Amino acid sequence: MTSLDDLPIRDDLRGLTPYGAPQLEVPVRLNVNENAYRVPEAVALDIVQEIARSLPDANRYPDREFDTLRAGFAAYLGHGLQPEQIWAGNGSNEVLQHVLQAFGGPGRSLLSFTPTYSMYPLLAQGVGMRWVPVPRAADFTLTPDAVRGAIVEHDPDVVFLCSPNNPTGTAIGLDVIEAAAEAARGIVLVDEAYAEFAHDRSQTALTLLDRFPRLLVSRTMSKAFAFAGIRVGYLAAHPAVVDALRLVRLPYHLSAITQAAAIAALRHSDEMLSRVDSLREQRDRIVDELTALGLQPYPSDSNFVLVGGIDDPKAAFQALLDRGILVRDVGLPGTLRITAGTPGETTALLAAMAALTGQ
Ligand SMILES: *Cc1c(COP(=O)(O)O)cnc(C)c1O
Repeated sequence: MTSLDDLPIRDDLRGLTPYGAPQLEVPVRLNVNENAYRVPEAVALDIVQEIARSLPDANRYPDREFDTLRAGFAAYLGHGLQPEQIWAGNGSNEVLQHVLQAFGGPGRSLLSFTPTYSMYPLLAQGVGMRWVPVPRAADFTLTPDAVRGAIVEHDPDVVFLCSPNNPTGTAIGLDVIEAAAEAARGIVLVDEAYAEFAHDRSQTALTLLDRFPRLLVSRTMSKAFAFAGIRVGYLAAHPAVVDALRLVRLPYHLSAITQAAAIAALRHSDEMLSRVDSLREQRDRIVDELTALGLQPYPSDSNFVLVGGIDDPKAAFQALLDRGILVRDVGLPGTLRITAGTPGETTALLAAMAALTGQ
């Protein structure tokens, strides 16, 4: 039997493990920061009709420039953005990959501040880039000085700033992003996958795009939009950046079905986003109630909470799973990461945590 080790794969891929959060069929799934709410039925019907309208033309390749969808994202984001400033892909992970294919690659480096999104080093690896992890302060915050200092020291080609940050929930100030954009010689991308869940949604890097042509802001429909299963992510930047990304995308990378689904969903932004406020409340409830139990949840501007003060995260993970609740052990000592669910799911989670802590 041939195994991976016997294959002539690239030397730099040998011994690596793929991204793989467990996909288990349990009653309460709070492990990958999905939106706990299903797509509203009326919206689902409209999406199906939009897809149905596109299907007879499926003998033709889809709109390579996805013009309608780009106009939809520009309108949704606001801030005076124009369609030529928008890019999209099959999930924002693909958008990030496009960015590294165009602006990274062999001999170049990607810098980010850890702990952060576990896909960044894998995406860098995939395009043969050097990964430069710079540790955050103990409370996971970033200051303009720390960010400027790291960029001056390492002189990276690309900087990824995740805000709010996964897996810590930490939002970074616009002053930090400005410091990065001013210090960096190359590209600075702010990954705003969780922007809609922030306490102060006006603090978005979109407001800085006019001033910094090498600043990019990525978003996704996977989290706030409850659209993880469809795979749509997008980015706003200077039109020249979008031209660069066209050089590396595969032809017709967004299928007609994906485009139709996203266009229809954007028509219903308000309904798609209607549960975001409820999820923010449950997020705050997790922080408050776990603090009362004597645990140390970190402040969060996303739809999940990193909880510290857990003596044995592996045992706690298993004990929760035994009660039908799946959370995430991201490998940070003494912590588990928990996604905010519906009020009922959150109640189940909090009751289980109370039992685990002997209360
Ligand atoms: C979930 C997530 C994404 C989005 O991934 P998609 O490919 O759009 O589903 C991007 N960045 C971060 C930090 C995330 O947590």
